[in-house]
Amino acid sequence: MTHIITSLCLRDSGCVDVCPVECIVPGIPQEEWPWFYIDPDTCIDCGACIPECPLEAIFTEDEVPSDYTAVGGEYISRVGLSGHYEGTNHHGEAVVLDTVKQLEAGEVVDLTEDIQPNFDYFESGPGYSAID
Ligand code: SF4
Ligand code: SF4
Repeated sequence: MTHIITSLCLRDSGCVDVCPVECIVPGIPQEEWPWFYIDPDTCIDCGACIPECPLEAIFTEDEVPSDYTAVGGEYISRVGLSGHYEGTNHHGEAVVLDTVKQLEAGEVVDLTEDIQPNFDYFESGPGYSAID
């Protein structure tokens, strides 16, 4: 198993420093890999990252919801979406995303679609060289 970051991630980066095996990396290029990704081969499932995420974007692989119900106002960030987001990350740095959609209260989203990109990023994407 592994832990999975979903498209609720807005690149806050708060989870990165708590990971004891340094397996959380930002998606690069951002337009193609909009959120942060966990290397599934390195993650030791310690769970330390989950409470660090202010957006509650991290789940164990088997708990990623297929029917995430929006509170309303939160964003998902996926390739193909065209909404605009500006915010500030954990370190006070600006975050700008143009691959977002703001969710309406009660809107249901299948977040299990976000599982495979966490594997793809490291198996065939730019993350392949990001982790030694
Ligand atoms: S803390 Fe949450 S929003 Fe920030 S990078 Fe990690 S998963 Fe993404
Ligand atoms: S569960 Fe632990 S090892 Fe896995 S990404 Fe989170 S902090 Fe890192």
